[in-house]
Amino acid sequence: MENFKIEIDADGIAVVAFDVPNRSMNTLTGAVIKEIPLLVEKIQSDDAIKGVVLTSGKATGFCAGADLADMASGMLSGAGDLQAAYDAGWALNGAFRQLETCGKPVAAAINGLALGGGLEFTLACHYRVVENNPKIQLGLPEIKVGLFPGGGGTQRLTRLIGVQTALMQMAEAKSWRPNDAKSAGVVHEVVEIGQSVEAAKAWIKNGGKAVQPWDEPKFKIPGGGPYHPMGAQVFIMGNAILRKQSYGNYPAVLNMMKAVYEGIQVPIEAGLRIETRYFIKTLMTPQAQAMIRSLFLSKQELDKGAVRPAGIPKSDPKKVTVIGAGMMGAGIAYVQAMAGIETILIDQTQEAADKGKQYAVDLVQKRVSRGHMTQDKADGILSLITPTTDYDQIKGSDLVIEAVFENREIKATVTKNAEAQLAKGAIFGSNTSTLPITGLAEASVRPEDFIGIHFFSPVDKMMLVEIIMAEKTSDEALAKALDYVLKIKKTPIVVNDSRGFYTSRCFSTYLMEGMALLEEGFSPVAIDNIGRSTGMPRGPLEMHDDVALDLSYKIAKQTREDLGDAYVPSAGEGIVATMVEGGRYGRKNGKGFYDYDQKPKVIWPGLAELAPTTKGDIFGESPEAFAAMDEMKTRLLYRQAVEVARCWAEGVIDDPREGDLGAILGWGFAPWTGGPITFIDQIGVAKFVETADRLVAAYGPRFEVPQLLRDMAAKGETFYGKFSKAA
Ligand code: NAD
Repeated sequence: MENFKIEIDADGIAVVAFDVPNRSMNTLTGAVIKEIPLLVEKIQSDDAIKGVVLTSGKATGFCAGADLADMASGMLSGAGDLQAAYDAGWALNGAFRQLETCGKPVAAAINGLALGGGLEFTLACHYRVVENNPKIQLGLPEIKVGLFPGGGGTQRLTRLIGVQTALMQMAEAKSWRPNDAKSAGVVHEVVEIGQSVEAAKAWIKNGGKAVQPWDEPKFKIPGGGPYHPMGAQVFIMGNAILRKQSYGNYPAVLNMMKAVYEGIQVPIEAGLRIETRYFIKTLMTPQAQAMIRSLFLSKQELDKGAVRPAGIPKSDPKKVTVIGAGMMGAGIAYVQAMAGIETILIDQTQEAADKGKQYAVDLVQKRVSRGHMTQDKADGILSLITPTTDYDQIKGSDLVIEAVFENREIKATVTKNAEAQLAKGAIFGSNTSTLPITGLAEASVRPEDFIGIHFFSPVDKMMLVEIIMAEKTSDEALAKALDYVLKIKKTPIVVNDSRGFYTSRCFSTYLMEGMALLEEGFSPVAIDNIGRSTGMPRGPLEMHDDVALDLSYKIAKQTREDLGDAYVPSAGEGIVATMVEGGRYGRKNGKGFYDYDQKPKVIWPGLAELAPTTKGDIFGESPEAFAAMDEMKTRLLYRQAVEVARCWAEGVIDDPREGDLGAILGWGFAPWTGGPITFIDQIGVAKFVETADRLVAAYGPRFEVPQLLRDMAAKGETFYGKFSKAA
């Protein structure tokens, strides 16, 4: 065996170190899955082995789960051959079943994170000890990539901790820290760092039993199964909750529910086979394949610098100045310090700079109070941030990021003052969300070093950073900006300059289509409900409130000034203008399309006068009502996808991975689609163009597709087929 190293001690306990060669982290590769039955055979046939401790040979963790690249290609290699796919799926599930029925006690000594298939591996052991390390997480997050746990997770976790808790945990892809896992009943013991193997051995020596609870004759599911009054309630409620959360967009959610419901009514072995059946069925859906590609494979590639220009030596930013310690600057300073970067945080007054640092203090202290970080570590991180008003402190910075007010003149002054302190080779990044970078770079004496580094709010939670190339930005500056983004552990996409760049430009079309629907007389409640049902995180009106109506108003005003006669007003602009002029700025002042002074928020009654509902109730059950809802969904998704296609045609984006991931991570574009590029590809470019043309005829030129799409349609091409840059 290559992946498991066995050492048998004097007591006959075999310590099995799981250690996949040439990888920094263990994953369940095809080779590992083939070796588990060999491992079980060795355990069963070697009489010297009395019991087994399974642990990780890696310092990085126990196991991060299935190797999705391996798995997707392996299980789908005989595309269409269901039996072959099922057999490949059963290989892992069956191997785990062999392990738990091997006849000798097996304990997992969990000395690092165990996620997905990694946790499922330990659930197939008879006993679990975990080390009390704040870095360790235990969980089954498969739902995030359009799958559900298919290595026995749906069967063992439900039998271990009950259907309700297990389903919630899996549906929300939540993970446990060691002590929480113990309280939940997922692990048996929490021990100090470095003690898990000894504790696992002690359990075996004290007579640890080689039988899983579910293989005991009198086993009952905690909380009851579907045949039990309490258990039945869980399924009734559970169905409703999962439906509410997913709107039926994710086959994985429904199939997971089915695997649990059917699987727990039969003995575990049959339950595991039911799980594999639903798992393979899920894996074959377009949604799962789209999500695996975008949210796992493409993300991994971009996180490793796939779009970094070749041949430029890697840089390591050690000192970075942030100018403007407001909402964005404070967040940027925090993520930098967390990544070990010395941070100068500048604002106009010492008080404002201190306030910016306080944001990091609060976030770090929260981690300490939850036991996720030591005070020493926290102090070290905070000592990296120096709040000041003194531009001299910029000296020695590898990068300056400005996050001052969204105003050209102020940004120009800040650029000049900062550049005066910057050494050759250092770069300057603007976090502007609306001002074209090429224009801002005019204030720079070294425009080749000037670049857009667009963060999203809240900075500590949002994983995407959009890097914007101005006309004169050099590849060296791009490489340095990418090195910085990767160092702070965010996912970068690189785009060319355009009004609103890529993300804000396309996202705004979702808000604008919502306004068009409102102006046409659809009820605001219907618009937001339908918006959410497309898979967008929120409806277009509530999202508009979140972004701020006055911002929308200001951007429209600025764009009108910049474009002059070429400006085309968008639908509902008048409604927004009236609201803003009447003091309704959105969620930030508690007054927008909704009133926020009560919970849950309610539609502002005055909206009925500004935008009367004339379309009647579309939530009826007539075929017309369903058709109307479908049409609204189509409009909301197509309007965004058309803008994405235009960005492509104009050269704003040129890599399908960035287009897809930027949309999902940047503005929450319906994740089940895998992103707007995959959305177009999966519909088929020709069909997409046909529908868009119909929408142009019905609603106007905003649905007009670029010529590129017509050409692709004529040749039967797809974006991923024609432009793929994946390795
Ligand atoms: P903010 O008003 O919260 O903070 C701006 C800060 O800049 C203030 O603390 C202000 O005192 C400081 N400042 C102003 N002029 C300065 C100067 N000459 N020198 C030093 N400091 C100065 O604004 P914000 O929301 O943090 O936005 C900052 C920038 O980030 C803007 O360009 C905005 O477009 C962009 N942005 C904002 C968001 C968002 O969601 N808020 C998202 C992405 C990008």
